[in-house]
Amino acid sequence: MPPPVVKLHSPTQSTLEDAVYREVVEQADLAISITDQQANILYANAAFARVTGHARETVIGSNESILSNHTTPREVYQGMWQQLSGGQPWSGRLINSRQDGSEYLAELSITPVFGADGKVSNYLGMHRDISTLYGLECQVRNHQALIESVIDIAPVAIALLDASGQVVLDNQEAKRLVRELGSAVPIHALMNNALPDWQAMLAANPEACTFTARDVRIDRPGRSQPRYFSCSALVVNVKSESTDAFFVPTEQLHLLVVAADTTALRLEQERAQTAALKALLAEEERVASIRESLSAALYRLEEPLNIMRSAISLLERRDPNTAAVLKMAMKNSSEHIEALRQCIPHNGPEAMLNVNLNEVLRDVLEISTPRFLQNGIVVEWKPATTLPNVIGRPLQLRVLFKALVDNAIDAMSVKGWHLRELRLSSSFAEDYVEVRVEDTGPGIAPDMRLKAFEPFVSTKNSALHLGTGLSRAQQIIANHGGMIDLEQRRGGGCAVRVELPLDGDPL
Ligand code: FAD
Repeated sequence: MPPPVVKLHSPTQSTLEDAVYREVVEQADLAISITDQQANILYANAAFARVTGHARETVIGSNESILSNHTTPREVYQGMWQQLSGGQPWSGRLINSRQDGSEYLAELSITPVFGADGKVSNYLGMHRDISTLYGLECQVRNHQALIESVIDIAPVAIALLDASGQVVLDNQEAKRLVRELGSAVPIHALMNNALPDWQAMLAANPEACTFTARDVRIDRPGRSQPRYFSCSALVVNVKSESTDAFFVPTEQLHLLVVAADTTALRLEQERAQTAALKALLAEEERVASIRESLSAALYRLEEPLNIMRSAISLLERRDPNTAAVLKMAMKNSSEHIEALRQCIPHNGPEAMLNVNLNEVLRDVLEISTPRFLQNGIVVEWKPATTLPNVIGRPLQLRVLFKALVDNAIDAMSVKGWHLRELRLSSSFAEDYVEVRVEDTGPGIAPDMRLKAFEPFVSTKNSALHLGTGLSRAQQIIANHGGMIDLEQRRGGGCAVRVELPLDGDPL
């Protein structure tokens, strides 16, 4: 059927009569209509009939409103006409009815056509059925909303990082970590701990950044309680959304990080461990005190023997008989002393393991809490947020720091001493970890700083203190290849600085 003749109000007739132009409009795969100023249809192309279901001869002369299914809000039409009346083009979405009553979503664009007098003479309408596209759009949005809800409701922190490490997506749980861990980008803190070189690796060897269920510990300054996470990371390639990638799809590297908070579980385990550790340390202390008592006794027994030794050498010429008797007595005594020495209990060898000193220090704080409370001591715990492991003997290291903390408590728990603060901190340099135990006690006199490490030297005037704590501490540190140093604190009190090499090698 030939296209209907379009009668226009303006001198643009000649243009429209152009055969080529007519054919282009006629055959375009877009519903095109031309109306008068009241939206009465003067021309409609073949695609218009296809999309709307209205035969062209029936729509010519009808108003475009025949397409309305009367569910588009009035404000949309008001907005449309306001725009068109001002001589401005309009585009938007309307719900239309086909001839058979079925509805579709039309994406419509209306352009005013101006006559020679500069006034709007006609309107050019172009529309297409976008119901399927809209359905897909909704489907994508729904999927996205569903995925976001699932991600948000998940009891784990989830974040997607781009190749430069920027967080491009994170869920509620990950956002909560910002507040809880006091870190601007908590996912970075978790990754730094789980895989220290992750940022460089992501650029050089991304596959190495994929790992599952790696235990991560985050210590928070000022808080005695660390947080534990089970962290997993997966390298994902996301299709580039840039137009350059339309014909040659390119992928952008991303890192998906998932972290489950395992603090509650770990605390439960730790409570059980602390109880076991308390028993172990108590046993260690009991054995140590027997060892110290016996060593002290032997040390003191050696003194009269030395006197006897001198007496024998004096008497050997003048009174050989007495000297011989004394010699015999000395021989017997030496044998008894040796027998006593054999009774000194020794610890079995402890295996060298990977030890996190923050964990050791926290155990010591936990075990010492009753003493802190009993003596009114305020504790300031300043752990390094991330601390590399040292290779060492876990029990020995706990004995070491417990002895240092006990010394600090003893120093401050003096009648009438009011300032009672203990500061425990950890930090690390390239190849060693440093721990400082500082107290606000009376401090240690300069002449005692080196002597304090000698066995049986004590600044405490009590028969209970044999003065072997620091010498034992020094021995443990030496066995780990570290060093210990006593300093006078600037504000008063004593500061003990311990350096332990990461490799735990005593050489
Ligand atoms: P109407 O009584 O037509 O009008 C609704 C609102 O628009 C009222 O506020 C009214 O004041 C205002 N209005 C109506 N006509 C004019 C005018 N000439 N000047 C200023 N304000 C006016 N509608 C569709 O639903 N689907 C389509 O696909 C569609 N295509 C169109 C294509 C073209 C080229 C043009 C010009 C209009 C088209 N329209 C279309 C709009 C249509 O003409 C109606 O305005 C609309 O369908 C609302 O119809 P109605 O009978 O519900 O209300």
